[in-house]
Amino acid sequence: MGRKFLEHMGGSRIFACAACDTMLTNRQELISTRFTGATGRAFLFNRVVNLRYSDVQDRLMLTGRHMVRDVMCKNCDAKLGWIYEFATDEAQRYKEGKVILERALVTENGGIGDRDAPAHS
Ligand SMILES: [Zn+2]
Repeated sequence: MGRKFLEHMGGSRIFACAACDTMLTNRQELISTRFTGATGRAFLFNRVVNLRYSDVQDRLMLTGRHMVRDVMCKNCDAKLGWIYEFATDEAQRYKEGKVILERALVTENGGIGDRDAPAHS
């Protein structure tokens, strides 16, 4: 399949790139679903694998000024969201090092334990 260089974290509920189905993270890493991205609803994750990062950008958000990097799928280069490098507002510091994935750009599905189950689609 040509995916040997990609990591797989396992887990029961998997979030994957909507464009190429590369595994990105799982439910255990999900911190919050109450975020908003360019395409609408977005999720905050503790750890996400198989990403490429843009240069750091200074971005003014509803919650204050942040230093962020856009994150792209390591396999197909599709934009997926962003990562917080630094927050100037003390109350937003918990987001540093955490990753936002936009709901419209990822898919959520079963995971390894469901591999033998009938396909959903
Ligand atoms: Zn992809």
